[in-house]
Amino acid sequence: MDNDDSSNNGDQMSSTTQSNTTINRMMATTEESSSPNGNYLRFRFNEDCGFHTCVYREHQTHFHCMRKDCGYSFCDKTRFVQHTARHERLDSLMGGDFQQFRSSVSCMQSECPFGSTVGGNLINNNCGGGVGGGNNMKTSHFHCLKCDYVCADTNKVVAHRRQHAKMDNISAAGFEKYSPSQDCQKEMCNYRLKQTHYHCLTCNYSVLGLSQMSSHKFKHQQQQQQLQSQD
Ligand SMILES: [Zn+2]
Ligand SMILES: [Zn+2]
Ligand SMILES: [Zn+2]
Ligand SMILES: [Zn+2]
Ligand SMILES: [Zn+2]
Ligand SMILES: [Zn+2]
Repeated sequence: MDNDDSSNNGDQMSSTTQSNTTINRMMATTEESSSPNGNYLRFRFNEDCGFHTCVYREHQTHFHCMRKDCGYSFCDKTRFVQHTARHERLDSLMGGDFQQFRSSVSCMQSECPFGSTVGGNLINNNCGGGVGGGNNMKTSHFHCLKCDYVCADTNKVVAHRRQHAKMDNISAAGFEKYSPSQDCQKEMCNYRLKQTHYHCLTCNYSVLGLSQMSSHKFKHQQQQQQLQSQD
């Protein structure tokens, strides 16, 4: 075990010049790392990256992913490609409808089932040793930006997005969805509390699928056109 504290204390005199070089370095590296997708900053072993949870801070040359939802740090250059690819994959999965919170980043939502694990020193892996899996020990998770939905599984992200897309289609067609557990409160409805179905918001007409909706919507559109031409 090295005694970091004593060596830091001995260096007190040069700390101001050090932070100046950190700033210069940051500006220089920002220009360097103008790669299309990755946005990384490099910190030399004697530079303070400013990330409280970072295990490489001030003792190992390393990189930080600067995306605000990330906070990933690594010192192996081969991680660049891997990590950028990971972001690209997640971005396409989330499609702008989700926000990811890594284990090292708090989502700041008190209601979140995954939020409670955030805090303190979470990242605790050594350089070169299993960084890929190690960083996800705690719950990295996703928040839906359209509703309160939270999950930790990318498959669920995809499924949830599909659901929203479907709901969007339904409301665009002028219908409202009722699952078997939701009472549509329409006395004459054959599907009431039995199976998933949809009611037209204009006339309460019920359908079971999207295809029926569009033809029904078309009927309403024609009616409207007729009414307008009568005026
Ligand atoms: Zn760091
Ligand atoms: Zn990242
Ligand atoms: Zn959360
Ligand atoms: Zn949602
Ligand atoms: Zn019904
Ligand atoms: Zn209708």
